[in-house]
Amino acid sequence: MFTERVYNFSAGPSMLPLPVLEQAAAEMTNYRGTGMSVAEMSHRSKMYLEIFETMKTDLRRVMRIPDEYEILFMHGGATGQFAAIPMNLMPLTGKADYAVTGNFSKIASQEAKKYGEVNIAASSEDKDHTYIPQQDALRLAPDASYFYYCANNTIYGTEWHYVPATGAVPLVCDMSSNIMSRPVDISKFGIVYAGVQKNMAPAGVAVVIVRKDLLGHEMPITPRIFSYKTTAEKDSMLNTPPCYTLYMLGLVVKWVEEQGGLEAMEQLRTERAGMLYDFLDESRLFHACAEKSARSGMNVTFRTGDEEKDAAFVKAATEKGFLNLKGHRLVGGMRASIYNAMPVEGVRKLVDFMKDYECNNR
Ligand code: PMP
Repeated sequence: MFTERVYNFSAGPSMLPLPVLEQAAAEMTNYRGTGMSVAEMSHRSKMYLEIFETMKTDLRRVMRIPDEYEILFMHGGATGQFAAIPMNLMPLTGKADYAVTGNFSKIASQEAKKYGEVNIAASSEDKDHTYIPQQDALRLAPDASYFYYCANNTIYGTEWHYVPATGAVPLVCDMSSNIMSRPVDISKFGIVYAGVQKNMAPAGVAVVIVRKDLLGHEMPITPRIFSYKTTAEKDSMLNTPPCYTLYMLGLVVKWVEEQGGLEAMEQLRTERAGMLYDFLDESRLFHACAEKSARSGMNVTFRTGDEEKDAAFVKAATEKGFLNLKGHRLVGGMRASIYNAMPVEGVRKLVDFMKDYECNNR
């Protein structure tokens, strides 16, 4: 039982900014004199359409999304996009390049095989996904419909610190676990997408930013709900959208802008991650799992090298209000997910706790 809010290091769904939660709570039963909750509004109502349009305009401004891109809100989370992407783009040439640098890009590549030929253009499986392949290691097919990669590997704690150069082949990027954590030049991409439940909103939707010339190439079997073209034509309202999640997304985007936008988010992520990695580098009990050049600014994976010691640490941390530090079941160890909403203070306190713990438990 906690009487105060904890520092929640969950990989997702994860912490939301406190002011956002407070505003949502204040507006919960009577949204701005409408006499009803946003959760109770028709998605066709004037009031809800205003919430939706404002959110979309704010998101475009904060993420600097050029006019040549549609912003779609789609059901099925990021996993839905593992199928939607090949269904919408594979007909361009019938094949696609995938970089497999973790669990989610692997699943995405397997899903894509149902819809066309998949070339594994790079893989970090040989070293348990502890690194990111560099540009010269990418085996690019010049006639691929698209090149797919996952910018931040939530489970392994690695992140691409460069945008691959693929010539005329459109880049498709899963940014589920690092979207809005730093400025990104959207114009380099064909598609940027993310499940919202880490850095953007409560779970329930995928944001899909797609270059307009990539609409309308879909396979005939593509379900309507997964068609980028139809979703764009219907402004993401071809059926009932996850209205409340999208309202919360709007609050988060406003919060990001108030903090100073993506430049401010980048500064914060550098500060948070720097504190943790600096400590891990000098620790004699813990060590970071990912190769230095590939370290994630969002998911910091670390371990002691002894499963029992890992478990004891996670238990002790939990008792002190540092929650969800257990690593993903595929890899074990620990993982501190430090998205935008994690206060710098939370990481500072965690590092202090780890220092003390190390002194007492070596
Ligand atoms: N991609 C990445 C990078 C993820 O971390 C996750 C899981 N949170 C997914 C895809 C799958 O997301 P979803 O649960 O929204 O399908």
